[in-house]
This record gives sequence, structure tokens and C-alpha cells, in this order.
Amino acid sequence: MKTILTKSPTKAAEFIRRGGIVAFPTETVYGLGANVFDEKAVAKIFEAKMRPADNPLIAHVGNLEQIKLLAREITPNAQKFIEAFFPAPLTLVLPKSENVPLIATANLDTIGVRMPQSDLAREFLRHCETPVVAPSANLSGKPSPTDWQAVFEDLNGRIDCILQGEATEIGLESTVVDCTSDVPLVLRSGAISLEELQKIVPETQLYQVKENEIIRSPGLKHRHYSPKARVILINRKSQIANRKSQAFIGLNKPKEKFELIKICASVEEYAHEVFAFFRRCDHAGIETIYCEIVEEKGIGLALTDRLRRASEG
Ligand code: AMP
Ligand code: MG
Repeated sequence: MKTILTKSPTKAAEFIRRGGIVAFPTETVYGLGANVFDEKAVAKIFEAKMRPADNPLIAHVGNLEQIKLLAREITPNAQKFIEAFFPAPLTLVLPKSENVPLIATANLDTIGVRMPQSDLAREFLRHCETPVVAPSANLSGKPSPTDWQAVFEDLNGRIDCILQGEATEIGLESTVVDCTSDVPLVLRSGAISLEELQKIVPETQLYQVKENEIIRSPGLKHRHYSPKARVILINRKSQIANRKSQAFIGLNKPKEKFELIKICASVEEYAHEVFAFFRRCDHAGIETIYCEIVEEKGIGLALTDRLRRASEG
């Protein structure tokens, strides 16, 4: 398959309307989209990414009206979050409408819905004239793509089109909140922080997986965000043995020498840079990446989550 590169959201949307799959930029990471109501097109996403079939997809809408096509009910808490945040890097899990094919939600009776903040993403979605399911546009397990070149690296020849936008603004995936019960549960942390959500619905909690419980967000159990290199989390006091092929990313300059080093001025910049840095390390043949841990508040919670998962990979 030849992958077409374009800067035109209308041209990219044309592929979606014809049953194809298209990578497009959002404010979080690049997504790989298909028409949610077209089972064959949705199946192509799982194939192109080599994504496990039990990992549900997030449906993206270009306007609030389209949410009704996807959800059986917009629960009162979801309504509050929509009014407070949408469009935003925030995914709300709602009871699924019967029209949505089960392949899109990995057989779940719920669906994750998000309206992206990125203007280019929303323009593309409007031209698609349908909600678009889109996981991150990377090969399953690899770091999420934060620029179109990373999408090209993973998926050239496997998808119909890449909509070329800027590098993404945030760099980490959306916050996912289950709104199907009275207590909203954060299934995945992201740029919209727990603190911000609690200002709107004070009962909101972080979801903790209990033993023997069926996991609510199947995607969480899969290996994620992993560069080829080994990822080791450290703090400012950690001792690092001086070896070859080592890299460092963090907020404070370490005293040791590294082949690749990225010092970030803020936690936001760290979040923005981390996946691109992982890919750079892979290109350079780095064997070990040391990542400085950060305070687990605001986007620092989401960053810590991604770093932990990468270090378990
Ligand atoms: P990705 O788009 O690749 O970042 O992955 C989507 C994430 O959202 C995964 O962690 C999924 O488990 C989660 N997700 C999507 N839809 C649902 C849903 N209906 N219920 C729970 N989690 C979901
Ligand atoms: Mg992903």
C-alpha cells in the first residue's frame, strides 16, 4: 500500500469517507483514524498497528452533536465534564450506542469519546462527516508518535494517508475518565489533571486495579511506550555507573556524562519531549535511558505513569 502524505485536511478526510485509515495530528499525540461505523475500516487499524483485539479505541468527534451518535446516554457527570472542558485532551467513557460496532470497543458495552482541542484535528474530523475511532498512530507497544515523521517511521506502507501537521502540543495521551457510575474514575492520567477534574466533580478518583477484578481499561494491561533501550527511573541522588551508550532525560543536569542528554525546563516540556527522545535514543543505538522521576501532580502524574510503563517494557 502506498501511503499518501498531505497537508490538506479535506484530502485526508476523503480517505476516511472511502473506508481507508488515516493518521492525523491532535494536541496529545498523532492518531490513526477510521470511520467508527465501518467495521472493515476499523479492522484495518488493528492490523496496521498490530494492536491486540482486546484494546478498545477512542472515538473522536468534530462537534458535540456527534456524541449522541456514539453514546446511549450522556451521564450527569459526563455532561459536567463536557461543559467544563470540551474540546480537550480528555476522553469520557460512556454507555455505548447500539450503532457502534463491537470491534471498535473491543466487545465492551462502553465507548470512550473525545473532542480534540487541535483546530486541524477538528477541521479534519468535520470533513470526515462521521466520528472517527483513533488509537495512537504507532506500532503497538512503541512510544506514541508526537510528529508525523514518527508515524511515517512506524506505519509507512501500512496506512492510506498521513495528515502532516505540526509536532503535537502536549505529547502524552488524553486523560481517560470512566463516567458510567456516580464516582468518575480516572483510568489513564493525562494533561487534564485529577485536580482539575475534582474541581468539577469532587468525587472523582484514580482507578486502582484490585486483585481478581476484571480490568476496566484493557489497554492498561498491555506493554506500552517502550523504546528498544532499557528505561531506568532515577532521582537526583541515584548513582549512575559510567558506561557507554547511555542517555538521560530529566529536569536537573546530572554530573555524569551521557551520549544523549535532554534537560527540560519544566514538567510540561519533559512530557512534551519524552516520546520523541525515546525514538532519538533508538536511532542512536542507546542501550540504557535514565529518566529522572518528577512530582506526581498535574501532568507529572501522567508523565510518571508513562515512564513507569516504559521501564516495565
Ligand atoms: P490509545 O488510543 O492507543 O492511547 O489507547 C486507548 C486507551 O483508552 C486504552 O488504554 C484503552 O484501554 C482506553 N479505552 C478506550 N475505550 C475504552 C472504554 N470503552 N473503556 C475503558 N477504557 C477505554
Ligand atoms: Mg497507544
